[in-house]
Amino acid sequence: MPGHHHHEPQGDDLTVAAQGRLEQSGEQWTAMRASVFEALAGFDKPASAYDIAEAVSKREGRRVAANSVYRILDLFVGANLARRVESANAYIANAHPDCLHDCIFLVCDSCGQTTHIDDDRLTRGVREAALAHGFTPVRPVIEVRGKCADCATN
Ligand SMILES: [Zn+2]
Ligand SMILES: [Zn+2]
Repeated sequence: MPGHHHHEPQGDDLTVAAQGRLEQSGEQWTAMRASVFEALAGFDKPASAYDIAEAVSKREGRRVAANSVYRILDLFVGANLARRVESANAYIANAHPDCLHDCIFLVCDSCGQTTHIDDDRLTRGVREAALAHGFTPVRPVIEVRGKCADCATN
């Protein structure tokens, strides 16, 4: 992978990194937010606010509305704890909450598996192209739809 390497915490380490990141942004890591993050991180593919609300409801043993989950997800995206996969209308835990990247997502149309790659050279080029048109880029969205390696061979 071109560009730089960064630490990608997993499991509990990822939760700790996410908590640190959120608190640094001046927000509290409440029990509800922790529950939403753990549910989100538990999915192996992008999950909708409804999927996550369902998972949180199961964990909490009470009905949690998709609306409140949606608000927390929004907060997570703003604080770099989660990413929105626009073309799938779904969310994914950010594997590197401490590092700001324009992540690129490869989304499989067959199984929904989403691979996250970072290529700063490429994304810098996208930002520069926008600037060259007098446009101030805030959040480039780069998603590639297609077939993952598993689905391509089946
Ligand atoms: Zn990334
Ligand atoms: Zn696939």
